Amino acid sequence: MKKAVFAAALLLCGCAAKTPEKHTRELFAMDTYMSLTAYDGESGSESAEAALSEAVDFINALERELSVTLSESDISVLNSASGERITVGSDALSIISTSLEISSQTDGALDITVYPLVREWGFTTGEYRIPEDEVLQDLLQNVGYGRISVEGQTVALAEGTEIDLGALAKGYAGSRAVEILRVHGVTSAILDLGGNVCAVGKKPDGTAWRVAVADPDNSSEYLGILDVEDKFVVTSGKYERYFTGDDGKRYHHIIDPKTGKPSENGLNAVTVIGTDGTKCDALSTALLVMGEERAVQYWREYGDFDMLLVTDDRRLLVTDGISDGFRLTSDCQVSVIE
Ligand code: FAD
Ligand code: MG
Repeated sequence: MKKAVFAAALLLCGCAAKTPEKHTRELFAMDTYMSLTAYDGESGSESAEAALSEAVDFINALERELSVTLSESDISVLNSASGERITVGSDALSIISTSLEISSQTDGALDITVYPLVREWGFTTGEYRIPEDEVLQDLLQNVGYGRISVEGQTVALAEGTEIDLGALAKGYAGSRAVEILRVHGVTSAILDLGGNVCAVGKKPDGTAWRVAVADPDNSSEYLGILDVEDKFVVTSGKYERYFTGDDGKRYHHIIDPKTGKPSENGLNAVTVIGTDGTKCDALSTALLVMGEERAVQYWREYGDFDMLLVTDDRRLLVTDGISDGFRLTSDCQVSVIE
Protein backbone atom coordinates (compact mmCIF):
# COMPACT_ATOMS: atom_id res chain seq x y z
CA MET A 1 0.00 0.00 0.00
CA LYS A 2 1.32 3.39 -0.85
CA LYS A 3 -0.28 6.77 -0.60
CA ALA A 4 1.62 9.35 -2.57
CA VAL A 5 2.25 12.64 -0.87
CA PHE A 6 4.48 13.94 -3.63
CA ALA A 7 3.09 16.17 -6.32
CA ALA A 8 3.07 14.41 -9.66
CA ALA A 9 5.07 17.25 -11.04
CA LEU A 10 7.98 18.89 -9.27
CA LEU A 11 8.54 22.56 -9.62
CA LEU A 12 11.91 23.76 -10.70
CA CYS A 13 12.27 27.38 -9.71
CA GLY A 14 15.42 29.09 -10.87
CA CYS A 15 16.91 31.92 -8.85
CA ALA A 16 16.97 35.28 -10.54
CA ALA A 17 19.32 38.06 -9.51
CA LYS A 18 16.69 40.79 -8.98
CA THR A 19 13.15 39.62 -8.38
CA PRO A 20 9.99 41.04 -6.85
CA GLU A 21 9.26 39.76 -3.37
CA LYS A 22 8.24 36.11 -3.18
CA HIS A 23 5.33 34.96 -0.97
CA THR A 24 4.56 31.31 -0.25
CA ARG A 25 1.76 29.40 1.48
CA GLU A 26 1.65 25.69 2.22
CA LEU A 27 -1.56 23.92 3.14
CA PHE A 28 -3.04 20.47 3.38
CA ALA A 29 -6.45 20.31 1.76
CA MET A 30 -8.43 17.71 -0.19
CA ASP A 31 -6.04 15.10 1.25
CA THR A 32 -3.14 16.70 -0.63
CA TYR A 33 -0.19 18.95 0.21
CA MET A 34 -0.52 22.22 -1.67
CA SER A 35 2.09 24.90 -2.18
CA LEU A 36 1.23 28.35 -3.52
CA THR A 37 3.94 30.82 -4.56
CA ALA A 38 3.23 34.32 -5.88
CA TYR A 39 5.38 37.36 -6.58
CA ASP A 40 4.27 40.90 -5.90
CA GLY A 41 2.78 42.63 -8.90
CA GLU A 42 3.22 46.25 -9.88
CA SER A 43 0.50 47.34 -7.47
CA GLY A 44 2.84 46.85 -4.53
CA SER A 45 4.10 44.63 -1.80
CA GLU A 46 0.74 43.61 -0.39
CA SER A 47 -0.77 42.26 -3.59
CA ALA A 48 0.63 38.72 -3.47
CA GLU A 49 0.20 38.30 0.29
CA ALA A 50 -3.48 39.32 0.19
CA ALA A 51 -4.08 37.21 -2.93
CA LEU A 52 -2.59 34.10 -1.34
CA SER A 53 -4.65 34.54 1.84
CA GLU A 54 -7.82 34.79 -0.21
CA ALA A 55 -6.85 31.79 -2.37
CA VAL A 56 -6.16 29.64 0.73
CA ASP A 57 -9.50 30.66 2.27
CA PHE A 58 -11.23 29.79 -1.00
CA ILE A 59 -9.63 26.32 -1.21
CA ASN A 60 -10.56 25.52 2.41
CA ALA A 61 -14.15 26.70 1.84
CA LEU A 62 -14.34 24.66 -1.37
CA GLU A 63 -13.28 21.53 0.52
CA ARG A 64 -16.13 22.10 3.01
CA GLU A 65 -18.59 22.45 0.10
CA LEU A 66 -17.43 19.34 -1.78
CA SER A 67 -15.94 16.77 0.58
CA VAL A 68 -17.71 13.42 0.73
CA THR A 69 -16.14 12.85 4.15
CA LEU A 70 -17.99 15.84 5.66
CA SER A 71 -21.65 15.01 6.23
CA GLU A 72 -22.83 18.63 5.83
CA SER A 73 -21.12 19.26 2.45
CA ASP A 74 -23.31 19.85 -0.61
CA ILE A 75 -22.08 16.59 -2.13
CA SER A 76 -22.79 14.52 1.00
CA VAL A 77 -26.28 16.03 1.24
CA LEU A 78 -26.85 15.20 -2.44
CA ASN A 79 -25.52 11.64 -2.00
CA SER A 80 -27.93 10.96 0.84
CA ALA A 81 -30.96 12.69 -0.73
CA SER A 82 -32.53 9.42 -2.03
CA GLY A 83 -33.29 10.89 -5.44
CA GLU A 84 -34.60 14.23 -4.18
CA ARG A 85 -33.59 17.41 -6.08
CA ILE A 86 -31.11 19.50 -4.08
CA THR A 87 -29.93 23.10 -4.51
CA VAL A 88 -26.14 23.14 -4.54
CA GLY A 89 -23.56 25.93 -4.39
CA SER A 90 -22.25 27.53 -7.57
CA ASP A 91 -18.85 25.78 -7.28
CA ALA A 92 -20.38 22.30 -6.98
CA LEU A 93 -22.77 23.11 -9.83
CA SER A 94 -19.99 24.31 -12.10
CA ILE A 95 -17.82 21.22 -11.43
CA ILE A 96 -20.73 18.81 -11.93
CA SER A 97 -21.66 20.55 -15.21
CA THR A 98 -18.09 20.34 -16.53
CA SER A 99 -17.89 16.69 -15.52
CA LEU A 100 -21.05 15.93 -17.51
CA GLU A 101 -19.67 17.70 -20.57
CA ILE A 102 -16.42 15.69 -20.43
CA SER A 103 -18.30 12.45 -19.65
CA SER A 104 -20.33 12.87 -22.78
CA GLN A 105 -17.26 13.71 -24.93
CA THR A 106 -15.29 10.71 -23.59
CA ASP A 107 -18.07 8.14 -23.78
CA GLY A 108 -18.19 7.94 -19.99
CA ALA A 109 -14.47 7.40 -19.34
CA LEU A 110 -14.87 10.20 -16.79
CA ASP A 111 -17.86 9.43 -14.63
CA ILE A 112 -18.27 10.94 -11.16
CA THR A 113 -20.92 8.33 -10.27
CA VAL A 114 -18.10 5.80 -9.97
CA TYR A 115 -17.72 6.84 -6.31
CA PRO A 116 -19.30 3.71 -4.68
CA LEU A 117 -16.78 1.59 -6.61
CA VAL A 118 -13.85 3.76 -5.51
CA ARG A 119 -15.11 3.30 -1.94
CA GLU A 120 -15.56 -0.47 -2.37
CA TRP A 121 -11.93 -0.83 -3.46
CA GLY A 122 -11.03 1.06 -0.26
CA PHE A 123 -9.53 4.18 -1.82
CA THR A 124 -11.63 6.55 0.27
CA THR A 125 -11.16 4.70 3.57
CA GLY A 126 -7.68 3.19 3.25
CA GLU A 127 -9.18 -0.27 3.91
CA TYR A 128 -8.05 -1.70 0.60
CA ARG A 129 -9.57 -4.91 -0.80
CA ILE A 130 -10.21 -6.63 -4.12
CA PRO A 131 -14.02 -6.79 -4.45
CA GLU A 132 -15.77 -9.91 -5.74
CA ASP A 133 -16.99 -9.60 -9.36
CA GLU A 134 -20.59 -9.98 -8.14
CA VAL A 135 -20.22 -6.98 -5.84
CA LEU A 136 -18.78 -4.90 -8.69
CA GLN A 137 -21.63 -5.88 -11.04
CA ASP A 138 -24.13 -4.94 -8.38
CA LEU A 139 -22.55 -1.51 -7.79
CA LEU A 140 -22.19 -0.87 -11.55
CA GLN A 141 -26.00 -0.86 -11.86
CA ASN A 142 -26.08 2.56 -10.20
CA VAL A 143 -23.11 3.96 -12.14
CA GLY A 144 -23.70 6.16 -15.19
CA TYR A 145 -23.49 9.92 -15.69
CA GLY A 146 -26.99 9.83 -17.22
CA ARG A 147 -28.22 9.25 -13.66
CA ILE A 148 -27.32 12.87 -12.81
CA SER A 149 -29.83 15.58 -13.68
CA VAL A 150 -28.99 19.30 -13.49
CA GLU A 151 -31.76 21.91 -13.62
CA GLY A 152 -30.91 25.51 -12.84
CA GLN A 153 -29.10 25.54 -9.48
CA THR A 154 -30.39 22.09 -8.55
CA VAL A 155 -29.05 18.57 -8.98
CA ALA A 156 -30.81 15.23 -8.57
CA LEU A 157 -29.19 11.81 -8.51
CA ALA A 158 -31.14 8.69 -9.37
CA GLU A 159 -31.81 6.56 -6.30
CA GLY A 160 -28.74 4.51 -5.34
CA THR A 161 -26.31 6.79 -7.22
CA GLU A 162 -23.57 8.73 -5.41
CA ILE A 163 -20.92 11.09 -6.73
CA ASP A 164 -17.43 12.33 -5.80
CA LEU A 165 -15.71 15.25 -7.53
CA GLY A 166 -12.14 14.12 -6.72
CA ALA A 167 -11.24 13.68 -10.39
CA LEU A 168 -11.65 17.37 -11.22
CA ALA A 169 -12.12 19.45 -8.06
CA LYS A 170 -8.42 20.27 -7.63
CA GLY A 171 -8.35 21.56 -11.21
CA TYR A 172 -11.33 23.79 -10.43
CA ALA A 173 -9.66 24.96 -7.21
CA GLY A 174 -6.55 25.87 -9.22
CA SER A 175 -8.55 27.80 -11.83
CA ARG A 176 -10.35 29.83 -9.19
CA ALA A 177 -7.16 30.45 -7.20
CA VAL A 178 -5.52 31.83 -10.36
CA GLU A 179 -8.52 34.14 -10.91
CA ILE A 180 -8.14 35.45 -7.35
CA LEU A 181 -4.42 36.10 -7.90
CA ARG A 182 -5.12 38.00 -11.11
CA VAL A 183 -7.78 40.18 -9.46
CA HIS A 184 -5.09 41.20 -6.94
CA GLY A 185 -2.75 42.16 -9.76
CA VAL A 186 -0.41 39.17 -9.47
CA THR A 187 1.25 38.44 -12.82
CA SER A 188 3.82 35.84 -11.77
CA ALA A 189 2.92 32.80 -9.66
CA ILE A 190 3.17 29.04 -9.52
CA LEU A 191 0.66 26.91 -7.62
CA ASP A 192 1.06 23.20 -6.96
CA LEU A 193 -2.17 21.58 -5.84
CA GLY A 194 -0.91 17.99 -5.63
CA GLY A 195 -0.37 17.00 -9.25
CA ASN A 196 -2.25 20.07 -10.49
CA VAL A 197 0.25 22.80 -11.34
CA CYS A 198 -0.95 26.29 -12.32
CA ALA A 199 1.62 28.58 -13.95
CA VAL A 200 0.67 32.26 -13.93
CA GLY A 201 2.61 34.42 -16.39
CA LYS A 202 6.35 33.88 -16.46
CA LYS A 203 8.99 33.63 -13.76
CA PRO A 204 9.98 37.07 -12.42
CA ASP A 205 13.16 36.89 -14.52
CA GLY A 206 11.02 36.77 -17.68
CA THR A 207 11.65 33.12 -18.57
CA ALA A 208 8.96 30.42 -18.73
CA TRP A 209 8.02 28.39 -15.67
CA ARG A 210 9.63 24.96 -15.72
CA VAL A 211 7.50 22.02 -14.60
CA ALA A 212 9.10 18.61 -14.25
CA VAL A 213 7.07 15.56 -15.25
CA ALA A 214 7.41 12.86 -12.60
CA ASP A 215 8.72 9.41 -13.53
CA PRO A 216 5.84 6.98 -12.81
CA ASP A 217 8.36 4.21 -12.08
CA ASN A 218 10.53 6.21 -9.69
CA SER A 219 8.97 8.96 -7.56
CA SER A 220 12.29 10.71 -6.92
CA GLU A 221 13.11 11.07 -10.63
CA TYR A 222 11.48 12.89 -13.50
CA LEU A 223 11.13 12.16 -17.21
CA GLY A 224 11.51 15.61 -18.63
CA ILE A 225 10.80 19.30 -18.20
CA LEU A 226 8.00 21.37 -19.69
CA ASP A 227 8.35 25.11 -20.25
CA VAL A 228 4.96 26.72 -19.64
CA GLU A 229 3.40 30.15 -19.34
CA ASP A 230 -0.20 30.84 -18.29
CA LYS A 231 -1.07 27.15 -18.36
CA PHE A 232 -2.40 24.41 -16.13
CA VAL A 233 -0.36 21.21 -16.07
CA VAL A 234 -2.33 18.32 -14.57
CA THR A 235 -1.13 14.77 -14.11
CA SER A 236 -3.03 11.56 -13.33
CA GLY A 237 -1.08 8.38 -12.86
CA LYS A 238 -1.49 4.79 -11.81
CA TYR A 239 1.44 5.33 -9.43
CA GLU A 240 -0.24 8.07 -7.38
CA ARG A 241 -2.54 5.95 -5.19
CA TYR A 242 -2.44 2.19 -5.21
CA PHE A 243 -2.22 -0.91 -3.07
CA THR A 244 -0.78 -4.36 -3.61
CA GLY A 245 -3.43 -7.08 -3.30
CA ASP A 246 -3.06 -10.52 -1.67
CA ASP A 247 -2.53 -11.79 -5.21
CA GLY A 248 0.65 -9.66 -5.47
CA LYS A 249 -0.83 -7.38 -8.17
CA ARG A 250 -0.99 -3.60 -7.95
CA TYR A 251 -4.41 -1.92 -8.00
CA HIS A 252 -4.64 1.82 -8.56
CA HIS A 253 -7.36 4.43 -7.88
CA ILE A 254 -8.59 5.34 -11.37
CA ILE A 255 -11.56 3.13 -12.16
CA ASP A 256 -12.81 2.22 -15.61
CA PRO A 257 -16.56 2.92 -15.24
CA LYS A 258 -17.33 0.13 -17.74
CA THR A 259 -15.66 -2.64 -15.71
CA GLY A 260 -15.62 -1.24 -12.17
CA LYS A 261 -11.92 -2.11 -11.99
CA PRO A 262 -8.74 -0.01 -12.12
CA SER A 263 -7.99 0.86 -15.76
CA GLU A 264 -5.46 -1.44 -17.41
CA ASN A 265 -4.70 -0.47 -20.99
CA GLY A 266 -0.94 0.12 -21.20
CA LEU A 267 -1.06 3.79 -20.13
CA ASN A 268 0.81 4.60 -16.92
CA ALA A 269 0.37 8.37 -16.61
CA VAL A 270 -1.21 11.27 -18.48
CA THR A 271 -0.29 14.96 -18.22
CA VAL A 272 -2.70 17.47 -19.74
CA ILE A 273 -1.60 21.04 -20.48
CA GLY A 274 -4.20 23.71 -21.21
CA THR A 275 -5.88 26.95 -20.22
CA ASP A 276 -8.92 25.53 -18.37
CA GLY A 277 -7.80 23.91 -15.09
CA THR A 278 -11.04 22.02 -14.46
CA LYS A 279 -11.05 20.47 -17.93
CA CYS A 280 -7.35 19.62 -17.73
CA ASP A 281 -7.99 17.72 -14.48
CA ALA A 282 -11.10 15.98 -15.86
CA LEU A 283 -9.21 14.98 -19.00
CA SER A 284 -6.10 13.68 -17.26
CA THR A 285 -8.34 11.16 -15.48
CA ALA A 286 -10.50 10.37 -18.53
CA LEU A 287 -7.59 9.88 -20.96
CA LEU A 288 -5.88 7.49 -18.55
CA VAL A 289 -9.04 5.36 -18.62
CA MET A 290 -9.30 5.64 -22.43
CA GLY A 291 -5.80 4.36 -23.22
CA GLU A 292 -3.29 5.52 -25.82
CA GLU A 293 -5.29 5.03 -29.01
CA ARG A 294 -8.54 6.63 -27.81
CA ALA A 295 -6.64 9.45 -26.06
CA VAL A 296 -4.92 10.34 -29.35
CA GLN A 297 -8.26 10.17 -31.19
CA TYR A 298 -9.85 12.45 -28.60
CA TRP A 299 -7.00 14.97 -28.88
CA ARG A 300 -7.31 15.00 -32.68
CA GLU A 301 -11.05 15.63 -32.39
CA TYR A 302 -11.04 18.31 -29.65
CA GLY A 303 -7.41 19.50 -29.73
CA ASP A 304 -7.82 22.57 -27.47
CA PHE A 305 -5.15 21.23 -25.11
CA ASP A 306 -1.80 19.44 -25.21
CA MET A 307 -0.90 16.16 -23.57
CA LEU A 308 1.97 13.93 -22.63
CA LEU A 309 1.29 10.20 -22.35
CA VAL A 310 3.59 7.75 -20.57
CA THR A 311 3.05 4.09 -21.38
CA ASP A 312 3.77 1.07 -19.17
CA ASP A 313 6.68 0.22 -21.50
CA ARG A 314 8.16 3.70 -20.94
CA ARG A 315 7.30 5.29 -24.27
CA LEU A 316 6.53 9.00 -24.12
CA LEU A 317 4.05 10.57 -26.54
CA VAL A 318 3.89 14.37 -26.74
CA THR A 319 1.46 16.46 -28.80
CA ASP A 320 3.11 18.83 -31.27
CA GLY A 321 1.94 22.00 -29.46
CA ILE A 322 4.34 21.35 -26.58
CA SER A 323 7.04 19.30 -28.27
CA ASP A 324 9.27 22.40 -28.61
CA GLY A 325 8.81 23.28 -24.93
CA PHE A 326 9.62 19.79 -23.66
CA ARG A 327 13.13 18.66 -22.76
CA LEU A 328 13.72 14.98 -22.16
CA THR A 329 15.86 14.22 -19.11
CA SER A 330 15.39 10.44 -19.06
CA ASP A 331 16.05 7.42 -21.25
CA CYS A 332 12.44 7.25 -22.56
CA GLN A 333 11.73 6.95 -26.24
CA VAL A 334 9.74 10.05 -27.34
CA SER A 335 7.37 10.41 -30.27
CA VAL A 336 5.39 13.46 -31.34
CA ILE A 337 1.63 13.19 -31.97
CA GLU A 338 0.39 15.40 -34.84
P1 FAD B 1 -7.37 12.21 -10.52
O1 FAD B 1 -7.05 11.35 -11.65
O2 FAD B 1 -7.61 13.63 -10.84
O3 FAD B 1 -8.71 11.68 -9.84
C1 FAD B 1 -8.86 10.35 -9.47
C2 FAD B 1 -9.91 10.25 -8.41
O4 FAD B 1 -11.19 10.43 -9.02
C3 FAD B 1 -9.94 8.88 -7.76
O5 FAD B 1 -9.17 8.88 -6.58
C4 FAD B 1 -11.42 8.67 -7.51
O6 FAD B 1 -11.81 9.32 -6.33
C5 FAD B 1 -12.09 9.36 -8.68
N1 FAD B 1 -12.21 8.52 -9.87
C6 FAD B 1 -11.61 7.33 -10.16
N2 FAD B 1 -11.94 6.92 -11.39
C7 FAD B 1 -12.77 7.86 -11.91
C8 FAD B 1 -13.45 7.99 -13.15
N3 FAD B 1 -13.32 7.10 -14.12
N4 FAD B 1 -14.23 9.08 -13.32
C9 FAD B 1 -14.38 10.01 -12.35
N5 FAD B 1 -13.76 9.93 -11.14
C10 FAD B 1 -12.95 8.88 -10.94
N6 FAD B 1 -9.07 11.68 -0.21
C11 FAD B 1 -8.88 11.04 0.96
O7 FAD B 1 -8.30 9.97 0.95
N7 FAD B 1 -9.32 11.57 2.14
C12 FAD B 1 -9.99 12.75 2.19
O8 FAD B 1 -10.38 13.21 3.26
C13 FAD B 1 -10.21 13.45 0.96
N8 FAD B 1 -10.88 14.62 0.95
C14 FAD B 1 -11.13 15.23 -0.24
C15 FAD B 1 -11.91 16.39 -0.27
C16 FAD B 1 -12.21 17.00 -1.48
C17 FAD B 1 -13.06 18.23 -1.48
C18 FAD B 1 -11.73 16.46 -2.70
C19 FAD B 1 -12.06 17.10 -4.01
C20 FAD B 1 -10.96 15.31 -2.67
C21 FAD B 1 -10.66 14.68 -1.47
N9 FAD B 1 -9.91 13.51 -1.44
C22 FAD B 1 -9.72 12.86 -0.24
C23 FAD B 1 -9.42 12.88 -2.69
C24 FAD B 1 -8.10 13.38 -3.14
O9 FAD B 1 -7.79 14.70 -2.92
C25 FAD B 1 -7.97 13.25 -4.68
O10 FAD B 1 -9.20 13.27 -5.27
C26 FAD B 1 -7.31 12.00 -5.02
O11 FAD B 1 -6.02 12.07 -4.51
C27 FAD B 1 -7.21 11.78 -6.53
O12 FAD B 1 -6.76 12.93 -7.19
P2 FAD B 1 -5.65 12.84 -8.28
O13 FAD B 1 -5.38 14.23 -8.74
O14 FAD B 1 -4.52 12.05 -7.75
O15 FAD B 1 -6.28 11.96 -9.42
MG1 MG C 1 -8.12 14.42 -12.75
